[in-house]
Amino acid sequence: MFLIEIYKSVQGESSFAGLPCVFVRLAGCNLRCSWCDSEYTFSGGRKMSLEEVMDEVRKLAAVRLVEITGGEPMLQEREVVPLMQQLLDEDYEVLIETSGERPLAGVPKRVHKIVDVKCPASGEGGSFRRENLEALSQSDELKFVIADRADYEFARDFVRDHQLERRVGTILFSPAFRKDASLERSASNCLLDPRELVEWILADGLNVRLGLQIHKFIWEPLTKGV
Ligand code: SF4
Repeated sequence: MFLIEIYKSVQGESSFAGLPCVFVRLAGCNLRCSWCDSEYTFSGGRKMSLEEVMDEVRKLAAVRLVEITGGEPMLQEREVVPLMQQLLDEDYEVLIETSGERPLAGVPKRVHKIVDVKCPASGEGGSFRRENLEALSQSDELKFVIADRADYEFARDFVRDHQLERRVGTILFSPAFRKDASLERSASNCLLDPRELVEWILADGLNVRLGLQIHKFIWEPLTKGV
Protein backbone atom coordinates (compact mmCIF):
# COMPACT_ATOMS: atom_id res chain seq x y z
CA MET A 1 0.00 0.00 0.00
CA PHE A 2 1.09 3.63 -0.48
CA LEU A 3 1.39 5.76 2.66
CA ILE A 4 2.08 9.42 3.34
CA GLU A 5 2.79 9.19 7.08
CA ILE A 6 2.29 7.32 10.35
CA TYR A 7 2.35 9.41 13.52
CA LYS A 8 0.97 9.74 17.02
CA SER A 9 -1.17 12.66 18.17
CA VAL A 10 -4.54 13.31 19.77
CA GLN A 11 -7.65 12.61 17.78
CA GLY A 12 -8.99 15.96 16.57
CA GLU A 13 -12.48 14.99 15.44
CA SER A 14 -15.39 12.63 16.03
CA SER A 15 -16.65 11.28 19.36
CA PHE A 16 -13.05 10.06 19.96
CA ALA A 17 -11.74 13.68 19.95
CA GLY A 18 -9.08 14.29 22.56
CA LEU A 19 -7.90 10.68 22.84
CA PRO A 20 -4.32 9.70 21.98
CA CYS A 21 -4.35 8.09 18.54
CA VAL A 22 -1.99 6.70 15.89
CA PHE A 23 -2.78 7.99 12.41
CA VAL A 24 -2.04 5.90 9.33
CA ARG A 25 -2.43 8.28 6.38
CA LEU A 26 -2.71 6.68 2.97
CA ALA A 27 -1.88 8.37 -0.32
CA GLY A 28 -4.33 9.27 -3.08
CA CYS A 29 -7.78 10.79 -3.29
CA ASN A 30 -10.35 10.77 -6.08
CA LEU A 31 -12.18 13.90 -4.80
CA ARG A 32 -11.07 17.54 -4.76
CA CYS A 33 -12.94 19.28 -1.93
CA SER A 34 -12.67 23.07 -2.14
CA TRP A 35 -11.55 23.39 1.52
CA CYS A 36 -9.32 20.27 1.59
CA ASP A 37 -6.44 20.51 4.09
CA SER A 38 -4.78 17.30 2.89
CA GLU A 39 -3.78 18.09 -0.69
CA TYR A 40 -0.28 16.81 0.08
CA THR A 41 -1.78 13.30 0.06
CA PHE A 42 -2.98 13.48 -3.55
CA SER A 43 0.16 12.00 -5.09
CA GLY A 44 3.31 10.13 -4.16
CA GLY A 45 3.54 8.11 -0.97
CA ARG A 46 5.89 5.42 0.30
CA LYS A 47 5.17 1.83 -0.69
CA MET A 48 4.94 -0.31 2.46
CA SER A 49 3.89 -3.88 3.22
CA LEU A 50 1.26 -4.69 5.83
CA GLU A 51 3.99 -5.95 8.19
CA GLU A 52 6.03 -2.76 7.78
CA VAL A 53 2.99 -0.65 8.65
CA MET A 54 2.24 -2.84 11.68
CA ASP A 55 5.84 -2.53 12.88
CA GLU A 56 5.61 1.27 12.82
CA VAL A 57 2.25 1.28 14.59
CA ARG A 58 3.56 -1.09 17.30
CA LYS A 59 6.56 1.21 17.89
CA LEU A 60 4.28 4.12 18.79
CA ALA A 61 4.15 3.17 22.45
CA ALA A 62 1.02 2.27 24.32
CA VAL A 63 -1.58 4.02 22.15
CA ARG A 64 -4.39 1.56 21.39
CA LEU A 65 -6.50 3.74 19.08
CA VAL A 66 -5.57 3.77 15.38
CA GLU A 67 -7.19 5.83 12.62
CA ILE A 68 -6.84 4.88 8.97
CA THR A 69 -7.17 8.07 6.95
CA GLY A 70 -5.99 9.81 3.81
CA GLY A 71 -6.59 10.98 1.16
CA GLU A 72 -9.24 8.37 0.60
CA PRO A 73 -8.09 5.10 2.19
CA MET A 74 -10.77 2.95 0.53
CA LEU A 75 -9.10 3.53 -2.85
CA GLN A 76 -6.61 0.94 -1.57
CA GLU A 77 -9.32 -1.40 -0.29
CA ARG A 78 -7.46 -4.60 -1.22
CA GLU A 79 -4.55 -3.66 1.05
CA VAL A 80 -6.33 -1.60 3.72
CA VAL A 81 -8.99 -4.19 4.69
CA PRO A 82 -6.35 -6.79 5.73
CA LEU A 83 -4.52 -4.00 7.62
CA MET A 84 -7.68 -3.13 9.57
CA GLN A 85 -8.25 -6.83 10.30
CA GLN A 86 -4.69 -7.26 11.58
CA LEU A 87 -5.07 -4.21 13.85
CA LEU A 88 -8.32 -5.63 15.25
CA ASP A 89 -6.64 -9.02 15.77
CA GLU A 90 -3.99 -7.25 17.87
CA ASP A 91 -6.73 -5.57 19.97
CA TYR A 92 -6.39 -2.06 18.63
CA GLU A 93 -9.53 0.04 18.42
CA VAL A 94 -9.75 1.06 14.77
CA LEU A 95 -11.35 4.05 13.05
CA ILE A 96 -11.52 4.71 9.33
CA GLU A 97 -12.16 8.20 7.98
CA THR A 98 -13.67 8.08 4.49
CA SER A 99 -15.80 10.17 2.15
CA GLY A 100 -18.19 7.27 1.56
CA GLU A 101 -17.72 7.55 -2.19
CA ARG A 102 -16.21 4.03 -2.32
CA PRO A 103 -18.23 0.96 -1.19
CA LEU A 104 -17.93 0.35 2.56
CA ALA A 105 -19.52 -3.10 2.81
CA GLY A 106 -16.08 -4.75 3.00
CA VAL A 107 -14.93 -2.81 6.08
CA PRO A 108 -14.75 -5.19 9.09
CA LYS A 109 -17.78 -4.70 11.37
CA ARG A 110 -15.70 -3.82 14.48
CA VAL A 111 -14.07 -0.86 12.71
CA HIS A 112 -15.73 2.49 13.50
CA LYS A 113 -16.53 4.18 10.19
CA ILE A 114 -16.41 7.98 10.23
CA VAL A 115 -18.01 8.98 6.96
CA ASP A 116 -17.72 12.52 5.65
CA VAL A 117 -20.82 13.20 3.55
CA LYS A 118 -19.83 16.05 1.24
CA CYS A 119 -22.02 19.17 1.27
CA PRO A 120 -22.49 21.40 -1.83
CA ALA A 121 -19.84 24.06 -1.01
CA SER A 122 -17.16 21.35 -1.00
CA GLY A 123 -17.63 21.07 -4.76
CA GLU A 124 -18.11 17.31 -4.27
CA GLY A 125 -21.77 17.28 -3.19
CA GLY A 126 -23.52 14.14 -4.40
CA SER A 127 -20.37 12.00 -4.16
CA PHE A 128 -21.69 9.98 -1.19
CA ARG A 129 -22.75 6.46 -2.24
CA ARG A 130 -26.29 6.06 -0.85
CA GLU A 131 -26.11 2.27 -0.52
CA ASN A 132 -23.35 2.83 2.08
CA LEU A 133 -26.10 3.82 4.52
CA GLU A 134 -26.90 0.10 4.74
CA ALA A 135 -23.34 -0.62 5.92
CA LEU A 136 -23.60 1.79 8.88
CA SER A 137 -24.40 0.89 12.49
CA GLN A 138 -24.57 2.49 15.94
CA SER A 139 -20.78 2.26 16.23
CA ASP A 140 -20.34 4.49 13.16
CA GLU A 141 -20.41 8.26 12.71
CA LEU A 142 -21.50 10.55 9.90
CA LYS A 143 -19.83 13.93 9.53
CA PHE A 144 -20.93 17.00 7.59
CA VAL A 145 -18.36 19.75 7.04
CA ILE A 146 -20.38 22.94 6.70
CA ALA A 147 -19.24 26.17 5.02
CA ASP A 148 -22.48 28.16 4.77
CA ARG A 149 -26.25 28.11 5.29
CA ALA A 150 -26.91 26.09 2.12
CA ASP A 151 -24.54 23.37 3.40
CA TYR A 152 -26.31 23.41 6.76
CA GLU A 153 -29.72 22.97 5.15
CA PHE A 154 -28.40 20.14 2.97
CA ALA A 155 -27.00 18.38 6.07
CA ARG A 156 -30.13 18.97 8.15
CA ASP A 157 -32.41 17.62 5.41
CA PHE A 158 -30.12 14.63 4.76
CA VAL A 159 -30.22 13.74 8.47
CA ARG A 160 -34.00 13.97 8.57
CA ASP A 161 -34.73 12.32 5.21
CA HIS A 162 -32.59 9.27 6.06
CA GLN A 163 -33.50 9.12 9.77
CA LEU A 164 -29.81 9.13 10.57
CA GLU A 165 -30.32 9.62 14.30
CA ARG A 166 -31.61 6.02 14.37
CA ARG A 167 -28.96 4.57 12.07
CA VAL A 168 -25.64 5.79 13.46
CA GLY A 169 -24.18 6.47 16.90
CA THR A 170 -23.03 10.04 16.23
CA ILE A 171 -23.81 12.76 13.70
CA LEU A 172 -21.23 15.52 13.51
CA PHE A 173 -21.72 19.02 12.13
CA SER A 174 -18.34 20.75 11.76
CA PRO A 175 -17.61 24.23 10.46
CA ALA A 176 -15.23 24.14 7.47
CA PHE A 177 -11.79 25.67 7.97
CA ARG A 178 -10.22 28.26 5.67
CA LYS A 179 -7.46 27.01 3.41
CA ASP A 180 -5.80 30.40 3.90
CA ALA A 181 -6.03 30.17 7.69
CA SER A 182 -3.89 32.56 9.73
CA LEU A 183 -1.37 31.28 12.29
CA GLU A 184 -3.84 32.22 14.99
CA ARG A 185 -5.44 29.27 16.80
CA SER A 186 -8.90 30.74 16.73
CA ALA A 187 -12.43 30.25 15.44
CA SER A 188 -11.85 33.19 13.08
CA ASN A 189 -10.24 30.60 10.76
CA CYS A 190 -13.58 28.84 10.30
CA LEU A 191 -15.48 29.55 7.08
CA LEU A 192 -18.65 29.48 9.19
CA ASP A 193 -18.73 30.90 12.71
CA PRO A 194 -19.29 27.94 15.09
CA ARG A 195 -21.62 30.11 17.16
CA GLU A 196 -23.88 30.62 14.16
CA LEU A 197 -23.87 26.88 13.46
CA VAL A 198 -24.85 26.13 17.06
CA GLU A 199 -27.72 28.64 16.85
CA TRP A 200 -29.06 26.91 13.72
CA ILE A 201 -28.76 23.44 15.31
CA LEU A 202 -30.63 24.56 18.41
CA ALA A 203 -33.31 26.41 16.43
CA ASP A 204 -34.03 23.27 14.40
CA GLY A 205 -33.89 20.91 17.40
CA LEU A 206 -31.32 18.60 15.80
CA ASN A 207 -29.66 15.92 17.94
CA VAL A 208 -26.26 16.31 16.35
CA ARG A 209 -22.84 16.96 17.86
CA LEU A 210 -20.87 20.11 17.06
CA GLY A 211 -17.43 19.04 15.83
CA LEU A 212 -14.48 21.40 16.11
CA GLN A 213 -11.20 20.17 14.70
CA ILE A 214 -9.43 20.55 18.02
CA HIS A 215 -5.96 19.96 16.54
CA LYS A 216 -6.43 23.31 14.75
CA PHE A 217 -6.83 25.00 18.12
CA ILE A 218 -3.95 23.12 19.77
CA TRP A 219 -1.45 23.70 16.94
CA GLU A 220 -1.36 26.41 14.26
CA PRO A 221 -4.12 25.50 11.78
CA LEU A 222 -1.90 24.60 8.81
CA THR A 223 0.49 22.36 10.77
CA LYS A 224 0.81 18.90 9.20
CA GLY A 225 1.40 15.59 10.95
CA VAL A 226 -0.53 16.48 14.12
S1 SF4 B 1 -12.03 13.61 0.40
FE1 SF4 B 1 -10.67 14.36 2.03
S2 SF4 B 1 -8.58 14.20 1.18
FE2 SF4 B 1 -10.01 14.00 -0.54
S3 SF4 B 1 -10.20 16.09 -1.36
FE3 SF4 B 1 -11.88 15.82 0.12
S4 SF4 B 1 -11.08 16.57 2.10
FE4 SF4 B 1 -9.31 16.25 0.71
